[in-house]
Amino acid sequence: MYDPKSRKAEDFINHQEILDSLAYADAHKTDRAVIDAILEKAKLRKGLSHREASVLLACELEDKNQELFALAKQIKKDFYGDRIVMFAPLYLSNYCVNGCLYCPYHAKNKHIPRKKLTQEEIRAEVIALQDMGHKRLALEAGEDPVNNPLEYILESIKTIYSIKHKNGAIRRVNVNIAATTVEDYRKLKEAGIGTYILFQETYHKESYEKLHPTGPKSNYAYHTEAHDRAMEGGIDDVGLGVLFGLELYRYEFAGLLMHAEHLEAVFGVGPHTISVPRVCPADDIDPNAFDNGISDEIFEKIVACIRVAVPYTGMIISTRESQKVRERVLDLGISQISGGSRTSVGGYVEKEPEAESSAQFDVSDTRTLDQVVRWLMELGYVPSFCTACYREGRTGDRFMSLCKAGQIQNCCLPNALMTLQEYLMDYAAPETREVGEKVIAQQQAYITNPKVKEIVAQRLEKITQGERDFRF
Ligand code: SF4
Ligand code: SF4
Repeated sequence: MYDPKSRKAEDFINHQEILDSLAYADAHKTDRAVIDAILEKAKLRKGLSHREASVLLACELEDKNQELFALAKQIKKDFYGDRIVMFAPLYLSNYCVNGCLYCPYHAKNKHIPRKKLTQEEIRAEVIALQDMGHKRLALEAGEDPVNNPLEYILESIKTIYSIKHKNGAIRRVNVNIAATTVEDYRKLKEAGIGTYILFQETYHKESYEKLHPTGPKSNYAYHTEAHDRAMEGGIDDVGLGVLFGLELYRYEFAGLLMHAEHLEAVFGVGPHTISVPRVCPADDIDPNAFDNGISDEIFEKIVACIRVAVPYTGMIISTRESQKVRERVLDLGISQISGGSRTSVGGYVEKEPEAESSAQFDVSDTRTLDQVVRWLMELGYVPSFCTACYREGRTGDRFMSLCKAGQIQNCCLPNALMTLQEYLMDYAAPETREVGEKVIAQQQAYITNPKVKEIVAQRLEKITQGERDFRF
């Protein structure tokens, strides 16, 4: 039976409840009264249930869809302003014992080169990332208890945080590794990770089992309940995501929101982030082999619906998506993007020849971080390298309650401007710096608190004189 408070995967991601929600959405997809009522509720900015949001996703009334997009844009603007947080993935190892049919790291892929970075190699990768200007990483590793045990991940995190090269520093390490035990999550928490991210891939149990025929990941319940264990282990910020294209998108969408409702019901705090990857080409993987691929238009609608359904949850998009698609969805709700990414093991130090690629997926947006930063600013956004909340202890319910009270706004813009200033001073090309200086000058006007405005002006000046790492 559907029960968001249950700790059992099949209760909080209840198959029948999803089918009933989709049937309800179908029955009301042209029902003006119901759609209007849902849009009115969404305007309160307190979110929507999976069933309500499913109706919006199914909505076939063109004018109401336009209203949805306009509302998503407004909510994005009100909650996140012009800021876009930057990050990069760091692949530690592509050894993996699982059999995921959509991923080139699956154990049966015998021709992909297997690599695992040594601590020295990690050091070199991190220096390369610091030299680009990154401050926030997402660690990636396959599941392999022999080659990539937790001790290896913990040691790697320690190495990453210890490297101070010129003015560079990685100030937040998010971790995307396989589902594990409460005990292991506790160790990750002690190692100082930011968000623990685990993609569900698909919420549809039967499809999940087909797509994961072998390895520990084939256990649907163990995987789906992982975020609960992470929270029990003390990790306050967890990230969700599905791989769109594996199953029917409307099913995944409802499941994703039910998962968010479950975390809120049990722990009083929803997911910190939601990622929206789509299946894309890679070694041994042809996206056309999956029949549920979604068009750019549907992808945009999914982003808009997530934005209005969970306004407080950050939304992440990677370089899987092209510049064009990224541009469109930034407006509709994305708050974090990667830039200058390499999706291979050791790819930041040395670009691999294509034939020997160890990449998890083909990058669609291949621009450098500096190009992405400049592009964002030219579009009117403020690229932010901020990592302040986690370092100030603003995580989990503390973060969410500040966020819901509108207080985060008082930190985000000042922190974005100060970290952008650091970037401009230390890493930007001259033309990027020129654009950035104008952006910083303009955006300071939007800081409403006069005291904060004054402090920011002083700190920006100090950054030009060589001081670093200010934060609110
Ligand atoms: S998706 Fe993750 S668990 Fe599955 S094969 Fe790829 S690296 Fe391994
Ligand atoms: S102040 Fe907190 S919420 Fe705002 S950008 Fe920085 S880390 Fe994110």
